[in-house]
Amino acid sequence: MSDSPATHNRKTAPQPGSRAPGEATASTSNFIRSVIEADLAAGKYAARAWGGRPGSAGTHKGAPADPAKIRTRFPPEPNGYLHIGHAKSICLNFGLARDYGGICHLRFDDTNPEKEEQEYVDSIIDAVHWLGFSWESGGTSHLYYASDYFDFMYQAAEYLIESGHAYVDQQTAEEMRASRGTLTEAGTNSPWRDRPAQESLRILREMRDGRHADGSMVLRAKIDMASPNINLRDPAIYRIKRATHHRTSDKWCLYPMYTYAHPIEDALENITHSVCTLEFADQRPFYDWLLERLAEGGLLQRPLPQQIEFARLNLTYVVLSKRKLIELVEEKHVAGWDDPRLPTLAGARRRGYTPEGFRRFAERIGVSKADSWIDYSVLEDCVREHLNEIAERRIAVLDPVRLVIDNYPAIREEECHAPNHPQKPELGKRAVPLSRELWIEREDFMENPAKGYFRLFPGNSVRLRYGYVVKCTGCDKDAQGNVIAVHCQYDPDTKSGTPGADKVKVKGNIHWVSANHAYQCEVRLYDRLFKVPHPGAGDRGYLQELNPESKRVITAQLEPALKSAKAEERFQFERHGYFVADLRDSRAGVPVFNRAVTLRDSWTKPAGQP
Ligand code: ATP
Ligand code: MG
Repeated sequence: MSDSPATHNRKTAPQPGSRAPGEATASTSNFIRSVIEADLAAGKYAARAWGGRPGSAGTHKGAPADPAKIRTRFPPEPNGYLHIGHAKSICLNFGLARDYGGICHLRFDDTNPEKEEQEYVDSIIDAVHWLGFSWESGGTSHLYYASDYFDFMYQAAEYLIESGHAYVDQQTAEEMRASRGTLTEAGTNSPWRDRPAQESLRILREMRDGRHADGSMVLRAKIDMASPNINLRDPAIYRIKRATHHRTSDKWCLYPMYTYAHPIEDALENITHSVCTLEFADQRPFYDWLLERLAEGGLLQRPLPQQIEFARLNLTYVVLSKRKLIELVEEKHVAGWDDPRLPTLAGARRRGYTPEGFRRFAERIGVSKADSWIDYSVLEDCVREHLNEIAERRIAVLDPVRLVIDNYPAIREEECHAPNHPQKPELGKRAVPLSRELWIEREDFMENPAKGYFRLFPGNSVRLRYGYVVKCTGCDKDAQGNVIAVHCQYDPDTKSGTPGADKVKVKGNIHWVSANHAYQCEVRLYDRLFKVPHPGAGDRGYLQELNPESKRVITAQLEPALKSAKAEERFQFERHGYFVADLRDSRAGVPVFNRAVTLRDSWTKPAGQP
């Protein structure tokens, strides 16, 4: 796994502005768009009929023309939570349908009974909605389950046997492996290959009726044991498996193989462009073979769907494999599927990432035919850019130390006015209370200033942002020499927003909250879950490469306005980064805050002064 140029190509060129998901505008062109545009120009799919629901040729026959110019689909297997890689596929498929007058289906590819659960179905529905996409069109919900097609798939299998295109093979798994051949050697025919169709049919029905043991036989397509493409050497299409399915329960003990089921699902749903990742390229000949056989038998409507492959998303500093994500959750390396450090969409949402951030990311990385690595910072840039546009500013002191304004009367307090968004005056200002004792960041004071330090040190003046200019007079320390309070004097003529306020020039500008008004709150500083760009790529297992500093919990002092933040409301904490209100771990209805992303990329650039 070597770094490709894309790893370090941060792609930070100016990008077109934001766009709502339902809004059609010209997106960056790519090879998939070119195929679709050519098909539309040629009217390739114009004659398809749509019977109002997925189905065989009979369902669509005589029905009106399909109102959807194209149909795409996002077909997750409900065996885990969706991750950032899925977001790319979702944005791509739903985006294509949106841009070309089509419809994108959400289809649960639930043909493998063992690992699938309703919990995953629900979380997937949630995640696709959250990303801003919908499968409703013209009053119809295009949410489908592959398991609803089990009857058709079985009928199609009987048809394949009857037409001489499939047979029941009773070789052991070991024998089947041995007779498959290799990349350089042809395979050999099974002794069962030429058994009479009536015999295969009888046995297939017995298999369906539970009269044979799991694994004792399979149904295979009869294609060519000498094909240079191993996937065409009589692939298995049905296997016996006694397992309870999350929707069909114990109705079946015979389940279709994924490679058999998927093309049929596409065809029944009138999918035109079946977009999938590159590893399926070798399956395309079987996809086409199977659909051709069923169409020539009159079972499926023409024109048939076409499979188009693109490179999957590989993202540095995360793992995007369901198996590894399950391991992280089950072994409790993280707090659950929505742990803000996980690359799941549920996690990203709790982390404060925005759907628009993901849509921009998908647009920016584009689609290609060649595998490459995208640096995690590209995603962070997209999220940061969007949050910068939408997040209101608030003040939080994350590492508080007391600042006492000795010449400010103890009984007095006043309001300062802070803009909610510096580039959006229409969002107004809010009142921030000021009084004699404030909280400031510990790092904003140095008793013995380093060279080039412009913030508080004895004798130096700074502006309290939105307030007065203050001059530092010294500090108090405890017995161990730790600074416990900083002292200063304010200049009453310098209040921000009053005439002549800026006649006193200072180099430093620090944020603060009034100690009497601020409230103490838990804040979680999340960082990357892994400390290396390619977890698990070297000699060490990926679990050894977890970042021990991926979560730091601190107690901060926040401005009072934050107390009433709503669930998932996002803010910029001035000078610190973007944070989201998390009400699930709230104390008495007061949110805690999760850091989504810092103000700058601290992984690839040195951390700067605020
Ligand atoms: P697995 O095969 O390990 O169960 P999967 O990631 O392939 O996991 P699916 O539920 O089959 O999971 O994926 C649904 C869709 O998401 C597929 O069409 C797949 O191509 C796409 N997808 C999955 N991972 C990525 C990725 N990293 N980049 C782009 N698309 C992806
Ligand atoms: Mg898959």
